[in-house]
Amino acid sequence: QHPVPNATVETIVAKVAAGETTHTPQGFIDLDAYRAAGGYALLRDCTDGKHDVESVIQKMESSGLRGLGGAGFPAGRKWRIVRGEPGPRLMAINLDEGEPGTFKDRYYLERDPHRFLEGALIAAWVTDVETIFIYLRDEYHGCRTMLEAELEKLRIDPPMARMPKLVLRRGAGAYICGEESAMIESIEGKRGMPRLRPPYVAQVGVFGLPTLQHNFETLHWVRDILEKGPEWFGSHGRHGRKGLRSFSVSGRVKEPGVKVAPAGITIQELLDEYCGGMLEGQTFYGYLPGGASGGILPASMNDIPLDFDTLQPYGCFIGSAAVVVLSNLDTAAAAARNTLKFFKDESCGQCTPCRVGTAKALTLIEQPVWDLVLLDELSQVMRDASICGLGQAAPNPIDCVVKYFPNELVKP
Ligand code: SF4
Repeated sequence: QHPVPNATVETIVAKVAAGETTHTPQGFIDLDAYRAAGGYALLRDCTDGKHDVESVIQKMESSGLRGLGGAGFPAGRKWRIVRGEPGPRLMAINLDEGEPGTFKDRYYLERDPHRFLEGALIAAWVTDVETIFIYLRDEYHGCRTMLEAELEKLRIDPPMARMPKLVLRRGAGAYICGEESAMIESIEGKRGMPRLRPPYVAQVGVFGLPTLQHNFETLHWVRDILEKGPEWFGSHGRHGRKGLRSFSVSGRVKEPGVKVAPAGITIQELLDEYCGGMLEGQTFYGYLPGGASGGILPASMNDIPLDFDTLQPYGCFIGSAAVVVLSNLDTAAAAARNTLKFFKDESCGQCTPCRVGTAKALTLIEQPVWDLVLLDELSQVMRDASICGLGQAAPNPIDCVVKYFPNELVKP
C-alpha cells in the first residue's frame, strides 16, 4: 500500500498546477527527520563492523532483488561482480527516469531521499567505491534543489568515516541517457550514446573504471531488505513470483499513481485492488505493461503475472513497471504510432537500423493500410542489428498490434 496518503499526491498536483515548487511536499523526510527515525544506523553498523561485507552481499542475493530500472539484473550478484574488479571503483545511479509512464523514482525521491542515499552508501561500502555519481533527470528541477540541499547536509555531517564523494550530475533531457552506457558517456561530459558491450560497465564504466550502476529504486529497497531480512522481501509476490514492485499506473483508471504491489500481480488484480477500476463509463481495452517499449496487450490477456521474464513469451516486457491502461476510447494502433514517434525523436542516431528504422516504421504505420510484410522485415532488422534496447524494442508495439489487435487493421 501507499506509504504516503493519496492526498499528498493531490497536493503536489495542485502545486504544479499553481506553478509552485513541489520539492517539499507534506510528509517530506529530511536528514534530521530520517536520522530521528533510525536512519543511517544500519550504515553505521556496517562500517563499525557489526555486519560484514560477505553477509550483506548474501542477504542481497537471497532477497531476489533485481535491477528495477528495467534490466532486472540481480542486485546482490552485481555487487559481488564489481567488488571482484580491481580498484579504484566508481558508482553511477540512474535517476533519469525517462521511460514514458514511469514516475516511481520521483515519487520516492520527493518524499524520502535519504532511504535511497543510505542504500547507495551501503552499496558503496560493500564495493569500496570512491565516488558516487547521481544522474538526475533535467526535468526534475524541483527535486534537484532538494537533493543538492540534502547532499550538502551529508557532506557537512557525514554518516560514515570514509564517505565517498557524492556528485550530482544533471541530464539534458535525452531519453537515451537512461540507458546505462549512454548515461555513463553523459556523466563523462560527452554526447549520450550507448556503448557496444562487452566490456560491461562493471568492468569498464565511468572514466574507464569498474562501475556499480544502479537504478534509484533498487537502492531504495536496500535498507528494508537488510533490516527486515531478505525473507521479508521475498515473502511478497503472487502467482509464483517473489518481491515487491512499484507500478507507475496511468491511463483510464480511477486512481492512477504509484502502487506498491506484489511482483507477479496481474493487470486485472492491479486494476481492481489498487486502482479503483476503470474510469466511469469506460471499459478495459488493453494495456502497455512496460512503458513505451514493453509492448501492448489486449484486455483479454488480463491474467499474465506482471514481472521480469513472464511477459517475454508474448513479445512484451515489464521494464520499469510503467503500466498504461487503455479503454474503449483508445486504439492500440494509435498508441503504437505515438510510441514510434517518440522512439524516432529519441533515437541517438548512432546506428542505421534504429535511426532509419524508427522513421520508416512510423511512416508505414501512418498509412491507412499497413504493409505487414515490410513491417515484419523491418522489425527483424531492427531487433537483430540495433546496438541498444531502444532500437531493439521499438518494433514491440507494432508487432503487438499485428498479433493482438488485428481488428484494428484495415484489410488491403
Ligand atoms: Fe542509438 Fe538507436 Fe542505435 Fe540505440 S539502437 S545506439 S538509440 S541509434
